Amino acid sequence: MIGIIDKKDCCGCSACAQRCPRHCITMQSDKEGFLYPVVDKHQCTDCGLCNRVCPVINRKPAQQPIAAYAATNSNQAIREQSSSGGIFTQLAEATINDGGVVFGAAFNKNWEVEHIFVDNVDDLSRLRGSKYVQSRIGNSYAIAEKFLKEGKEVLFSGTPCQIAGLKRFLRKEYDNLKAIDIACHGTPSPWIWKSYLDEICHANNISNISGIQFRNKTEGWKRYSFVIKYTGCNGQECEFRETMDKNLFMKSFLSDLCLRPSCHKCPARSGKSGSDITLADLWGAQHICPEIDDDKGLSFVIVWRDGNMPQCNMRAIPYSEALKYNPSLEHDSRERKRRKKFFRLAKRKGVCQSTVQCTTKSSLSMFWKKIKGLF
Ligand SMILES: Cc1cc2nc3c(=O)[nH]c(=O)nc-3n(C[C@H](O)[C@H](O)[C@H](O)COP(=O)(O)OP(=O)(O)OC[C@H]3O[C@@H](n4cnc5c(N)ncnc54)[C@H](O)[C@@H]3O)c2cc1C
Ligand code: SF4
Ligand code: SF4
Ligand code: SF4
Repeated sequence: MIGIIDKKDCCGCSACAQRCPRHCITMQSDKEGFLYPVVDKHQCTDCGLCNRVCPVINRKPAQQPIAAYAATNSNQAIREQSSSGGIFTQLAEATINDGGVVFGAAFNKNWEVEHIFVDNVDDLSRLRGSKYVQSRIGNSYAIAEKFLKEGKEVLFSGTPCQIAGLKRFLRKEYDNLKAIDIACHGTPSPWIWKSYLDEICHANNISNISGIQFRNKTEGWKRYSFVIKYTGCNGQECEFRETMDKNLFMKSFLSDLCLRPSCHKCPARSGKSGSDITLADLWGAQHICPEIDDDKGLSFVIVWRDGNMPQCNMRAIPYSEALKYNPSLEHDSRERKRRKKFFRLAKRKGVCQSTVQCTTKSSLSMFWKKIKGLF
């Protein structure tokens, strides 16, 4: 039976629940809103499979990449809609054009984040853009395995721990699988996200939401904005917009107040996930390659294994140089002393009020300085 000693270590990948032959593990939300496995002990036969597929119990060593690139999607509209340079869409289109399927994180109709798969280029817009909430993986690994066994090309994207979970779940290598993870600072609580959204909609009379972007680039890639698009009562298109340093949800995220506990001891960053490629923002672009930094977004593409890259605008860069401006690739975010207080206050007074009380100017500006290479 699943034997993670400390709950804090579980990253919620759900490999154990999806692999259990007796279907006796369910993923249930704790009081912070994160999913954890719960075992029905009466059904369990103690076969040990859940322990064997757990990426936290079976950690891989860190790796060094074989190549690193600065890259952008050649389609400017897609680059504009994407969080960094839009390379995810370029890789995903190549898979779909080969008759394959692409898994990634999307909003559902209640604006919660979950993993889905798409098999046509138009639906890729649902996966595009970072959603700063832990996505529910559901039974995506099992569905991906079915496609892989049928011989379909599969591109599976997610956080490093989701890719590590997929790899352990599959228990063998597939030539038709491309596994892509994103650099991951940590994922916020789905409960904090939903509570924040309810509060902000109530306070601003927002209903009929048509789109949410955590990384809108209208005011620049580096000074990005959180945007909610909605239809007003007269039928006109309206938007709620705040830059990342002003928006209270982004402040709670960037100050490490609402991350999953395992993010402070991540089992999968630094190439430990077993992915083929990691996608990140090329923070520090103004120092690394100023001649191509137009503040419209540059992807930092890190290649861990041999494989073809699709045609895109890219140039080789030194990994060690880019790493200096993107600490999350190798280092865990610090667990804040105020984290518990933040969740407690969020329950009593709401997420906005709790963020105001628990963030300080310096907690945010440290992050700003680090990721932007301004120090
Ligand atoms: C929670 C989170 C933390 C991040 N932290 C960092 C960081 O510290 N440093 C850094 O350089 N980059 C970070 N990123 C990654 C970065 O923001 C971009 O996602 C990445 O560079 C890919 O950008 P793109 O322009 O190629 O594609 P985009 O279209 O912007 O990204 C789409 C990809 O992101 C995936 N995705 C979106 N939301 C989620 C989610 N909630 N869970 C799993 N996968 C998701 C989709 O499945 C798809 O693969 C983070 C992303 C997320 C979601
Ligand atoms: S030991 Fe086997 S039966 Fe029991 S929970 Fe784990 S996978 Fe399921
Ligand atoms: S890390 Fe994944 S496999 Fe391990 S216990 Fe948690 S949900 Fe299960
Ligand atoms: S920081 Fe690590 S544990 Fe947390 S969501 Fe990202 S990959 Fe998973």
